[in-house]
Amino acid sequence: MKRIAVLTSGGDAPGMNAALGSVVRSATQKGMEVFGVEQGYLGLIEDRMQLMEPMRATGMVTSGGTLLGTMRCGEMKTEEGRLKAVETIRKHGIEGLVTIGGDGTFRGAEVLCGYGVPTIGIPGTIDNDLAYTQYTLGFDTTLNTIVRMATQIRDTMASHERVCVMEVMGRHCGDLALYSAAALHAEALILPEMPWDVDSLCQRLERQRANGRRSALVVMAEGAGKATELAPVIMEKTGFDTRASVLGYVQRGGQPSPRDLLMATRMGVRAVELLHQGIGNRVLGQCQEEIVDFDINEALDMPAVFNKELYELVQGLWA
Ligand code: ADP
Repeated sequence: MKRIAVLTSGGDAPGMNAALGSVVRSATQKGMEVFGVEQGYLGLIEDRMQLMEPMRATGMVTSGGTLLGTMRCGEMKTEEGRLKAVETIRKHGIEGLVTIGGDGTFRGAEVLCGYGVPTIGIPGTIDNDLAYTQYTLGFDTTLNTIVRMATQIRDTMASHERVCVMEVMGRHCGDLALYSAAALHAEALILPEMPWDVDSLCQRLERQRANGRRSALVVMAEGAGKATELAPVIMEKTGFDTRASVLGYVQRGGQPSPRDLLMATRMGVRAVELLHQGIGNRVLGQCQEEIVDFDINEALDMPAVFNKELYELVQGLWA
């Protein structure tokens, strides 16, 4: 294989640039040329790509976001758009494609595999919502950000004896909320994966207050509801001074954590190794600290796994 391309697609995630740099450097070492596709699948459809130069890419590795840009591209879901993407790939003599993104990105890659384009997927999403892997690039950085922000929120909540409902990202997946709540010893946790009701939540907060806990942090996954709607209800039912804090986009940006940088680098190298060996139609993941790869169709069909043990641990920390 002499020429490959790489793209980032879907939501940006810290670590994408490190994966990109790793793909470019390791492919160049193997004598391959790498084209960087701009704005995800849109760049393939509109033929927007450039030859990546490994020597130029120094500062990019530790930066957040994605230097190639990313776009949600509906055209890739149409037959016409897909054919244009394949045409661009053929026109430039591209023999393999590395796609960095989440579930949607891999569905696009799966389609290209169907047209005979070998692809390798690198999981890049802060949500950690890919069932086949224990880890996705960006998750660790975002978890660090949430813990840092929540610690600051807690200072003021404790000073004023308030309750804070802190809403965190994750789309339909509660992992960011679950792992941060466990790390922070949050007083309550609300996830899309588990049933909850406002009365039981209020009773829990009242019980904690009666036991001497003067303030509380309620971690709420965005997939479970809105903090701005829940906070006034808690205030009304309990009389506790309650505030909502929606962390928002601070969770997406920032310098990737060393863990994300390391995994991104390892995954970039592995993606190139596989393509170099003529292996395609795989997605990379992590299992017990090892980088593993799965057939793309099988990986996308795997059912989501919820860490109930960790959920129960959080529930059990406070009476
Ligand atoms: P993520 O990769 O983070 O899950 P999205 O779900 O937005 O993000 O998907 C990213 C892009 O992948 C979409 O904008 C679209 O271009 C492409 N994509 C998603 N689903 C499909 C599909 N079924 N067929 C082809 N392309 C798809």
